[in-house]
Amino acid sequence: MSKRDYYEILGVSKNVSDDELKKAYRKLAMKYHPDRNPDDKEAERKFKESAEAYEVLRDSQKRAKYDRFGHQGMRGGQDFHGFSNANDIFSHFSDIFGGGSFGGGGGSIFDDIFGGGGQGRRQRATGTPGQDLKVTLKLTLEEIASGTTKKIKLKKYKKCNTCNGTGAKDTASFHTCSVCSGAGEVKQVSRSMFGQFVNIAPCNNCSGSGKVITSPCLSCRGDGRIYEESTIKINIPSGVSDNSYMTLRGEGNAGKNGGASGDIIAIFRELPHEYFIRDDDNIIYELSISYPEAVLGTDVEIPTLNGRAKLKIERGTESGKFLKMREKGIQHLNRHGAGDQLVKINIHVPKKVNSKEKELLKELENQPHIKVATK
Ligand SMILES: [Zn+2]
Ligand SMILES: [Zn+2]
Repeated sequence: MSKRDYYEILGVSKNVSDDELKKAYRKLAMKYHPDRNPDDKEAERKFKESAEAYEVLRDSQKRAKYDRFGHQGMRGGQDFHGFSNANDIFSHFSDIFGGGSFGGGGGSIFDDIFGGGGQGRRQRATGTPGQDLKVTLKLTLEEIASGTTKKIKLKKYKKCNTCNGTGAKDTASFHTCSVCSGAGEVKQVSRSMFGQFVNIAPCNNCSGSGKVITSPCLSCRGDGRIYEESTIKINIPSGVSDNSYMTLRGEGNAGKNGGASGDIIAIFRELPHEYFIRDDDNIIYELSISYPEAVLGTDVEIPTLNGRAKLKIERGTESGKFLKMREKGIQHLNRHGAGDQLVKINIHVPKKVNSKEKELLKELENQPHIKVATK
């Protein structure tokens, strides 16, 4: 099934501003919101579809990639969040849905629409989200040429399996917070000359979790997380460029008290190559040949990113000429085909010759096809 164009989904033009984009998505999200369309599969599909489109277009890097390569450019699923359900969407776009903070008293835009009657879904991100982790991956041109898989070891916070992230020794040591009665937030009323203000702030007693632990888990000492070494496998597509990066959603530090996990940001660094120079997806290689070889032609074997390969030097090849070895370069990112290997010919001029060579060159010098006519 072909996917719809992201701009078309959101009903915006290609040069839409960030503000207009946000507005357009907000409108659709409200229209297809699950609370408004109970048991409507089509609305749910549209709700998710618009979230995906917004996820890509709001990010300038992803948007540039999408503009260039279309849906193909989003290969691998690592470029956008695979939304599994509506809750996931709410917590991901907390800036739109207003659920990202505990306090402020603003509530979500849905509260405004559906009223405070309780049927409106109040989305509140619980806990503390885990931090993102940055890793730098050094890649050889060979690895970039055909894509590769890297396994990296790093230390990060993971959910404690003993207590399943709750931080409590057992269910009996898990109590509802007496200060906030489990709400995780407290109302603070203040008065001013304009009247009474109600401010909602996270509960300090339970750090907003609504629960208090009387005996903490022995493995994680109540943190709910364990700091340990992990091995992460990263599939790197072919054709990535130096300093570009990839986001691995949810692979960063685990959150606390039910907070979402952070991401891993993998930054690619291209290592310099012994023989090759990269030019976009082409590879440049300089080949020195002798004067007789240039005149008479020859067959040579030279290195490529994929082992050695034969190259025919036609007779009469001039110095500085580029010979093209088709598709021997770097495989394009997210589309078929590869760049070429471009072989630059240098005619070798010896600095030193022996008497025999000198004699032969002297003889050669005045031959009719060798001689350069001076004007
Ligand atoms: Zn634990
Ligand atoms: Zn509390």
